[in-house]
Amino acid sequence: MKVVQKYGGTSVGSPERMRAIAKRAARQFSEGLVHNAIVVSAMAGETNRLVDLVRQVNPSASPRAYDMAVAAGEQVSVGLVSAALESEGLRALPLLGHQLGIVTNDAHSRARIQSIRRDVIENAWRNGMIPVVAGFQGVTADNAITTLGRGGSDTSAVALAVALEADLCEINTDVDGVYSADPRVVKAARHIPKMDYESALEMASLGSKVLHPRCVELAAKYRMPLVVRNSFDAEEARRTWIMPLTTEEALESPVVTGVSTTKAVARITVEGFDPNTTILKDLFQRIAEADTNVDVIVHDRHPRGHLQSVGFTVPTEDLEKTLAAIRSIQSSPGCANLQVSQETGLAKVSAVGVGMRSHSGVAGRFFGVLEGAEVPVLMITTSEIKISCIVPEASADRAAQVLHDEFL
Ligand code: ASP
Ligand code: MG
Repeated sequence: MKVVQKYGGTSVGSPERMRAIAKRAARQFSEGLVHNAIVVSAMAGETNRLVDLVRQVNPSASPRAYDMAVAAGEQVSVGLVSAALESEGLRALPLLGHQLGIVTNDAHSRARIQSIRRDVIENAWRNGMIPVVAGFQGVTADNAITTLGRGGSDTSAVALAVALEADLCEINTDVDGVYSADPRVVKAARHIPKMDYESALEMASLGSKVLHPRCVELAAKYRMPLVVRNSFDAEEARRTWIMPLTTEEALESPVVTGVSTTKAVARITVEGFDPNTTILKDLFQRIAEADTNVDVIVHDRHPRGHLQSVGFTVPTEDLEKTLAAIRSIQSSPGCANLQVSQETGLAKVSAVGVGMRSHSGVAGRFFGVLEGAEVPVLMITTSEIKISCIVPEASADRAAQVLHDEFL
C-alpha cells in the first residue's frame, strides 16, 4: 500500500506532537507500511508570524521575497519531524519542495504545481527511508521559491499522492472529519463518515475550514481518496472519507449533506449603465485583475432603453481594492453616471447535497424555514447541488441552525 500522510500546523505544533507522529509512523512501518510519504505544514502559528514579519519589513515586498520568507516555516517542520523519526529508529529523508522537484508556475503566493519528481520518493522507499516533504512550497523553472497560498499544504499532499499513484491521501488535522455544519454554531451538527467529492468541494469552497478547496478539486480530478482524521485521536477513532460513493450510497445519501456559512461578506451594487456597452465585461475584468474573487452576482436587465444594474458580493477584506477597480473604469465611455453603493456585515448561508439533483421542493423548504425564522434573504444563488443566500451576518447563525434542523 502507498500512502501520503499530511500533518497540519497543530499536528506538528510541539515537540510532543512530532514525537507522536514518529511513534505512529514507526508502528505503521513495523506493520508493513513501508511506502509512506509524510507531508508537513509549518508549526501552528508560524506562517502567520512570518507573514507578519514580511509586512513589518516591507508591506510591498516583492512576491518572490515574500514567498522566500513565508515558505521557511515548513523547513523547520521537515527537519524536526525527520529527527523525530530517527529517534524511533526509522530512516528519514527530509525534502524541501525544490529537492523533490515540485515545479510550479510563477504565480507567487498562489502557485500551481506542474510536476513532481516521483523517482525521488521511490528511491527513498527502495532504501528503506520515509520521505518527509515540505508542504506549501515549490520552485519555478527559474529557480524561485513559490508558495501555493495559505492552507496549501493539503494541496501539496494530494498532488504528491497523485504523482505517486498512492492508494490514499490522509489529512491529519485537529478535527475528526467534516461535519454537517460548524459544531460551534449548530450543536446538533453531525459527523459525516463518507462523502463524495462534489459535496466536499462545495463545502470547502463555501467556508467549511477543514480542507483547502484546491486540494479537494485535485483529489476529485484524479479520484484520489482523501481521509480526514484527527492526529490527536487513537487509530480506531472516526474519520471522514472523501471518495466516490457507490450507486447505493448515492441513492441513500440525504438530500442535504451539510449547511455552511461564510461570514464577512460585502455587497457592491453598480447601477445606471447603458445596456449597449461592454461595461459588464470591463467591470469584472478589472475586478479580476485586482485579484478579487467575486461571488454571488445578480444582474437586472431592465426593458430596452433603461439603464441596468448589477449587484455582487466579495469578501469584506477585498472591498477596498474592488471599489478602487470599479473607480478605475468610471471614466470610460458610458460610465459617467455609474452609481456605486456598498453594504458590509453580510454572510452567505448554503445548503449542499448531491441529493438535491433528484429531489424537488428543496428550495421551497429552504426559503420557508428562513421566512419562519424571520431571516431576511438579500440575494440567492443556486447550482445543481446547492442553494446559497446572502443574509445579514447577525442572522447567519440562526439561519444555519434552522436549515440544519429542517434538513438534517
Ligand atoms: N503553513 C501554511 C499556512 O499556514 C500552509 C498550510 O498550513 O497548509 O498557510
Ligand atoms: Mg490547513
